[in-house]
Amino acid sequence: MALSKEDIIRIVREEDIKFVRMQFADIFGQLKNVALTASQVEKAVNNQIMFDGSSVEGFVRIDESDQCLYPDRDTFTIFPWRAQFGKTARMICDVYNTDGSPFMGDPRNVLKRMTEKMKAMGYDTFNVGPECEFFLFKTDEHGNPTTETNDEAGYFDLGPLDHGETTRREICLNLEEMGFEIEASHHENAAGQHEIDFKYADALTAADNIMTFKLAVKLLAQKNGLHATFMPKPIFGVAGSGMHTNMSLFRDGKNVFYDPNDRRGLSKEAYSFIAGILAHVKGISAITNPLVNSYKRLVPGYEAPCYLAWSASNRSALIRIPAARGQSTRVELRSPDPSCNPYLAFAVCLAAGLDGIERGLTPPEEITENIYAMDDAARAARGIESLPDSLSSAIKELQKDQLLMDALGDHVSSYYIQGKKKEWYEYKTRVSSWEREKYITLY
Ligand code: GLN
Ligand code: MG
Ligand code: MG
Ligand code: MG
Repeated sequence: MALSKEDIIRIVREEDIKFVRMQFADIFGQLKNVALTASQVEKAVNNQIMFDGSSVEGFVRIDESDQCLYPDRDTFTIFPWRAQFGKTARMICDVYNTDGSPFMGDPRNVLKRMTEKMKAMGYDTFNVGPECEFFLFKTDEHGNPTTETNDEAGYFDLGPLDHGETTRREICLNLEEMGFEIEASHHENAAGQHEIDFKYADALTAADNIMTFKLAVKLLAQKNGLHATFMPKPIFGVAGSGMHTNMSLFRDGKNVFYDPNDRRGLSKEAYSFIAGILAHVKGISAITNPLVNSYKRLVPGYEAPCYLAWSASNRSALIRIPAARGQSTRVELRSPDPSCNPYLAFAVCLAAGLDGIERGLTPPEEITENIYAMDDAARAARGIESLPDSLSSAIKELQKDQLLMDALGDHVSSYYIQGKKKEWYEYKTRVSSWEREKYITLY
């Protein structure tokens, strides 16, 4: 239900809310916010909150630094975990320039622009259901994160109720209080690793939800003396954390990916969408797998994809089609990890899928065998290519892909690539403990 400005002002008064946080994301997906006291709420709903955009990663230069926050009233939520000392509410905001034009560097705006393009093609909703995985680690006596876990459990295991499970339960309950519909939550493969799945929504809402979700997980873990991380591969030798992304297109309330007459129950649009993703996924990786560390997850053996293939069931494939059909028919992209900026990630996926539909692409043949078990020659014989194996090569793929560069727009693509190149250089020039252990005595 849409809230009016007056509704927000009234709720803040009636609920005795002391602070309203105005939130937005920088281009690398970091949540930013300014906390306003309740007395400022009228200004806030009238789009009069300004901030210094030059202090935000990837926004504007110091000589043009004033920017405005236009809150999206639909995102108004009271934080359930702050109730004791005066309530705190938040709104997620769009970023505008002082002349009243939307700021092209705002990740929300990038996604909105792509959604407009989709609407012009005759679809009304791009639905996204993310599956976020994360680790819960113990903290040391200074409160700093360790990589020690407090359980030795595995996939779908359950208690003796440990700290981790209690925390996961608390996260679910808090999120439900904020209106999330939690569909599943379970222990993941690695010790200390968890997954919580909430119901799909249109891409913008889903991306907003991910931002809220990550904040809730981190805060509630901290409250329980644990550290939650969405780092894609915190520990060598065990599974990393992914953010499988389930996607579908709707028109007039109907899922257009479903076709009961096809032998797999998939429509021509679904096949073309898959083909479009496959055609652009190398460049997409720079957005969906944004860290140096992301590429340490994308290795064989941990149910994370490394090769460009699709399948109706095979979990070694990059794209899987979960068994559900009808309104739940969807394409699951398994490469994204939860360190990505969800607004940009969904924008580039949509851009690629729509490109597949516009060009009427057909995907290569489905791969039903375990691709991890194939050697280089076997994959080459089947024409199976690989995902980029480093942030550096992913960035190069992105730069080569004009469709994705256009989807991001000049501002975001140039700041993003510049930032990521710097990150790669920092990494590349460091000498790691692995190198020292391997070489220092040998040479
Ligand atoms: N953790 C795996 C990944 O990195 C996924 C495991 C699963 O959900 N089946 O993507
Ligand atoms: Mg899952
Ligand atoms: Mg999982
Ligand atoms: Mg999945």
